[in-house]
Amino acid sequence: MPIMKGKKGIVMGVANERSIAWGIAKTLAKQGAEIAFTYQNEGFKKRLLPLMESVESNICYECDVSKDTNDTNSIESLFNKIAESWDNLDFVVHALAYSDKEELKGKYVNCSRENFLNSLDISAFSFTRAAKSAFPLMSANGGSLLTLSYLGAERTTPNYNVMGVAKSALEASIKYLAMDLGKNNIRVNAISAGPVKTLAGAAISGARHVYRYSESVAPLKFNPELEEIGNSSLYLLSDMSSGVTGNIHHVDGGLHSVAIPKSEDLE
Ligand code: NAD
Repeated sequence: MPIMKGKKGIVMGVANERSIAWGIAKTLAKQGAEIAFTYQNEGFKKRLLPLMESVESNICYECDVSKDTNDTNSIESLFNKIAESWDNLDFVVHALAYSDKEELKGKYVNCSRENFLNSLDISAFSFTRAAKSAFPLMSANGGSLLTLSYLGAERTTPNYNVMGVAKSALEASIKYLAMDLGKNNIRVNAISAGPVKTLAGAAISGARHVYRYSESVAPLKFNPELEEIGNSSLYLLSDMSSGVTGNIHHVDGGLHSVAIPKSEDLE
């Protein structure tokens, strides 16, 4: 039997067919999950609808995570709308991030206060807000919350700058949320993915260099495909990982385990 049969949840962050969120959604749908999607604004909705059709989903809501609680498109409003049609929720996928492109180049030390606050609000705090909002729908039967991180949270990578700081905050949030919500059997994990060619990835200056370097240095000698991130997500979102919470799971071809690459692996 498909392992997500009878489970329903929300996938946030599909911008197009190259999005990590889409890779995850396709895998979940293939395994029988019922999925409600969110999109940031009308522009993204047009691209999302045909994708949704291909996985037989017809539930989607606009949600801009930078909106304040009382806004109709806020995170809190999203979960209120979900609660009108669903009594419970089994999973939430949070695959979104933002920082001003102009600050994803040059030096982190020059980060503006405005972009620091905005990047951390959208890329890190939104996950805590989603967890709090999901709680009433998960507290009875448990559930699984998943977000996406990157190696730049742990170590410096070129031009990742404030996004690295935001991902560090996100990774710390995972541990605190796991502790807070564990009593209700709500598990909280992240996948730290290797570089993937997406819209968000392209916003980071010199992304091509990082992509090539990562694949040459990673023990498996490749960067992850969407399917590989999808499969690991399936594990973390299903009952297969019932004993796993507070975990940052690297799906990066083993790149995170390398301190100093072999000289022949360098470009
Ligand atoms: P993507 O561009 O396909 O997706 C990013 C999504 O963020 C988009 O759907 C966009 O609408 C959404 N978003 C941005 N601001 C938002 C807001 N205010 N409200 C609601 N949604 C908003 O790129 P992706 O690479 O699939 O990114 C998904 C996640 O994966 C991000 O957290 C990213 O940091 C992370 N990640 C990406 C890579 C990579 O190399 N691409 C590697 C590791 C982790």
